[in-house]
Amino acid sequence: MTAYEIYDQIMKDAKDPETGEYVDDKLIEAYYYSDAVEGCIAYIQRIFGCDSAMAREVFAIYKEKQGPSLLTPAQAAANNAAAEAARSAQQNKPKCPTCGSTNIKSISALNCGVSVAVLGIFSKKINKSFECRNCGYTW
Ligand SMILES: [Zn+2]
Repeated sequence: MTAYEIYDQIMKDAKDPETGEYVDDKLIEAYYYSDAVEGCIAYIQRIFGCDSAMAREVFAIYKEKQGPSLLTPAQAAANNAAAEAARSAQQNKPKCPTCGSTNIKSISALNCGVSVAVLGIFSKKINKSFECRNCGYTW
């Protein structure tokens, strides 16, 4: 087998015959943790019965082909932080400017359309996006 053929098998979801784990998952680990690379080389040797030089070549191909599509640990952390910020922004619900209640509902585009049709163009709900369930204020 050539290094490319082994790489191809890894990408076709080759599994560790002992544990049933995907070889690909193990390689992703080694991509993130440089001290895991040697273990990974030995792993490829064990799974595919090749020598160390061949296993290194396989890993080099993996890194070259898969590396750009994988996030570095720093990028993954930045993504997590962004997701976390989005989550907490959502928890920071808007408050009623009059009574301070967070028991508000957003007036959907559909509701706005209904209020235009039913109440006419002078509806005070037009261009408002929230309504307080506590005091009924809209803004
Ligand atoms: Zn209110």
